[in-house]
Amino acid sequence: MAKYVGAHVSAAGGVENAPKNAQAIGARAFALFTKNQRQWRAKPLSNEQIDRFRENVQSAGIEMKHILPHDSYLINLGHPQDQQRQKSLEAFLDEVWRCEQLGLDKLNFHPGSHLRKISEEECLDRIADAMNETLKQSSSVTLVIENTAGQGSNLGYKFEHLRYLIDRSIDRSRVGVCLDTAHMFAAGYDIRTREAYEATMEEFERVVGFEYLQGMHLNDSKAAFGSRVDRHHSLGQGEIGLEAFGYIMNDERLCDIPLILETIDDTIWDKEIELLYSFME
Ligand code: ZN
Ligand code: MN
Ligand code: MN
Repeated sequence: MAKYVGAHVSAAGGVENAPKNAQAIGARAFALFTKNQRQWRAKPLSNEQIDRFRENVQSAGIEMKHILPHDSYLINLGHPQDQQRQKSLEAFLDEVWRCEQLGLDKLNFHPGSHLRKISEEECLDRIADAMNETLKQSSSVTLVIENTAGQGSNLGYKFEHLRYLIDRSIDRSRVGVCLDTAHMFAAGYDIRTREAYEATMEEFERVVGFEYLQGMHLNDSKAAFGSRVDRHHSLGQGEIGLEAFGYIMNDERLCDIPLILETIDDTIWDKEIELLYSFME
């Protein structure tokens, strides 16, 4: 039963630095932004950068399938205005192409937000269309939809939203999901006790299915259960507590996928990774 735990590490100075930062904290998986996540535009990747990224991944002993790149926070594939949505779609496509250049097989993204201008269903349809356009214009990357806390008008806070997007995909073999524990919890899916954890995971299996699960974000939550507020915390310091992470580390359904910390104190990521591995029975 192999678990691949890591963190969303910095790619400051270039994507090629991310695998080194992962290695330094004892990570067996990692997440990264392949460009500045707060800007629309980025310089294209140079061939040298691409080569060095691949070299550094190899020397860190990490497999490409255990890397879960995350897209820019600016992108909203469900934007109610056509021009803004087109801008998001173009930026998303650029990110998918960057992943393909780097040899990465997934891109993790948040579904989108209706900004209270259109219905949830209309917004989901816009997201599904953007995903399909992206699938048509790319060749290998799997689009990994993240569940959200449902803060503001963000969609993806119900497993049914993830299912809706999968159902409308022109190529389900290139669509997956990522479960964020803090988002799940804030959205009203309890995982604090063994019973609650099993019930939530059974619901996930029934509505979405573990065959679509391509990664997880392991975060405790500063925000209360069901609050629909997105505030991460260090493991064991928030409202979820440590038990849930023990269930996760011993769950056979969660093997061989990247398990990524996005906890708030990056100075203790090495300890958090060690702690998670210590939970394995
Ligand atoms: Zn995310
Ligand atoms: Mn997340
Ligand atoms: Mn979050």
